[in-house]
Amino acid sequence: MFTSIAGRSVIVTGGSKGIGKGIARVFAKSGAKVVVVSRHLKEAESTAEELRRDGGTAMGFAADVTSMGDLQVLAEATATAYGGIDILCANAGIFPQTKIEELSPEDWDFVSDTNLKGTFLSVKACLPYLKKSDQGRIVITSSITGPITAFPGWSHYGATKAGQLGFMRTACMEFAKYGITVNAVLPGNIATEGLAALGPEYEKSAAACIPLQKLGKVEDIGYAALFFASKEAAYVTGQTIIVDGGQILPE
Ligand code: NDP
Repeated sequence: MFTSIAGRSVIVTGGSKGIGKGIARVFAKSGAKVVVVSRHLKEAESTAEELRRDGGTAMGFAADVTSMGDLQVLAEATATAYGGIDILCANAGIFPQTKIEELSPEDWDFVSDTNLKGTFLSVKACLPYLKKSDQGRIVITSSITGPITAFPGWSHYGATKAGQLGFMRTACMEFAKYGITVNAVLPGNIATEGLAALGPEYEKSAAACIPLQKLGKVEDIGYAALFFASKEAAYVTGQTIIVDGGQILPE
């Protein structure tokens, strides 16, 4: 494991369950000081408690990534508790499936505010602290849907996930002078509570078109995020890693 993670302070938005919980677990096991963030304190704290039981350092925090105010309080509280912020994993996201004909402007805004604006706001709130770190890292959870491929019902979702990469590339250029790297992990179909909500038929048909013949584990995304966050990856910025069991093979 990357030793440069030990003692580092990391915020994981959407860390209470699913992929975020996998990321939080992998970082905690590597010795990082983790802040698990979700809109619900009880759930964030319950995941943090699990990490502490396994010997990790973790605390739960309630913040909505659509609220700049919440995120500023989160960043300040993290810096106070852990002495700074080294790594931001901007992972919180939602993926309701609605075809364009039925999609309302309000549905569009809700997904966009959470996934895309939420990424920007999380970065903006943490930036003053990341600038002070000698290992400033931003790792964004994007998706193969949007940047690489498309599925019916996810026009709004795909637009936000592609948009995250546009944001990531500019951020990587603007923050390079601070030594902060900005990268993104593009998961395929990963077994999470959010994916299970799409129904067993979806999960079965998704697994059938993956060469590795199964959904990914949340830790599979955690390990990719860990690489980007490591000191060893200091020269890697503006990049993506696809973690999808071979589902999409770019030309
Ligand atoms: P889950 O629904 O399992 O978990 C989502 C997490 O985000 C929860 O912790 C939830 O907590 C939190 N969350 C949702 N909205 C907000 C908000 N406004 N503010 C703060 N936290 C919020 O989702 P996944 O783990 O499946 O997905 C996580 C990320 O991975 C998303 O960005 C998604 O787009 C991406 N992804 C997932 C894939 C998959 O196959 N699962 C594939 C490709 C990408 P709470 O509800 O308590 O706020």
